[in-house]
Amino acid sequence: MLRASLLYLSHSKSARGLITRFPVARAVSSRFVAGETMGDVIRVIRELAARGLMSTADHLGENVASEADAARAADDYLRLLDQIAAAGVKSHVSLKLTQFGLDLGEAVALGHLRRVLERARAVGTFVRVDMEGAEYTDRTLALVRAARAAGYDNLGTVIQSYLYRSEADIAALIDEGVRVRLCKGAYKEPPDKAFPAKADVDANYVKLTGALLKAAQHTPAIYPAIATHDEKMIAAAKDFAAANQIPPASFEFQMLYGIRRELQETLAAQGYNVRVYVPYGTEWYPYFMRRLAERPANLWFFVSNFFKR
Ligand SMILES: Cc1cc2nc3c(=O)[nH]c(=O)nc-3n(C[C@H](O)[C@H](O)[C@H](O)COP(=O)(O)OP(=O)(O)OC[C@H]3O[C@@H](n4cnc5c(N)ncnc54)[C@H](O)[C@@H]3O)c2cc1C
Repeated sequence: MLRASLLYLSHSKSARGLITRFPVARAVSSRFVAGETMGDVIRVIRELAARGLMSTADHLGENVASEADAARAADDYLRLLDQIAAAGVKSHVSLKLTQFGLDLGEAVALGHLRRVLERARAVGTFVRVDMEGAEYTDRTLALVRAARAAGYDNLGTVIQSYLYRSEADIAALIDEGVRVRLCKGAYKEPPDKAFPAKADVDANYVKLTGALLKAAQHTPAIYPAIATHDEKMIAAAKDFAAANQIPPASFEFQMLYGIRRELQETLAAQGYNVRVYVPYGTEWYPYFMRRLAERPANLWFFVSNFFKR
């Protein structure tokens, strides 16, 4: 109920106007966001590397309303890729297709995705196409496939274990050799599309982790990303890999910036590849609301600080 309300508010323009006006919201969001500028994200990528952690940088933004905004968002990614190369740091980038104009037409988003893939290829890095709400799943997968058909192999996408369709999607993506990040799913979905019970989402996560790791054992290019802060999911992945002699180098764990920092370092110290998703930029509101929805303690922290001011 609380999760559903927060996810509803993440789309509300009036709530956004109200909440982002308060300095305390910005202060609390800074726990999950590297900062507002490219300089901030480069600094964080360096700090993470010093702690043995890899990065994927995300320029926050989604559901743009005009072609000009879509073009600006893609230009920001081109600048980000140039900055990563110029600063001599290593980082992937993660992006959302609605930020590149998917709501305005598939051709708009694909055009910008291709521009970013071209620049990423030139600087030698990888692009992860994030997965958004279920109304975008088919179009996201179609555009990832279109980009691969156009000759780009430096991209992968994301599958959410809360969707019933994900087992079939993962099987198809494995067949096609597409790199998958597996997460539980962060959006509000109806019961005809997604498991309503957390236990089922978790069980499916474990099952899909097994499918991805098994595929990686035979096809190194699959190199899956197990994206979760849930110690049970992480233990299941480690156990499955150990039981099937799948070396830690053939997959990676991923976590969000600011969440379970000690666990990120512990896994890296144990010899696992760990990548941190590092968002930055001014468009932090919907991302911040999804993080509040995932953990009630974050909301109480926010509310208690709100009333202290
Ligand atoms: C690298 C990465 C990329 C992602 N990309 C996508 C994407 O493209 N599309 C998408 O729909 N979702 C994405 N997600 C979000 C994901 O779907 C989940 O909503 C989120 O990761 C919470 O699920 P969990 O696996 O951590 O497990 P949960 O069962 O939600 O949490 C397990 C434990 O992790 C900790 N935790 C989880 N969330 C938080 C939080 N916000 N603050 C503090 N502690 C927390 C708590 O200790 C909690 O008990 C991504 C997540 C990661 C880590």
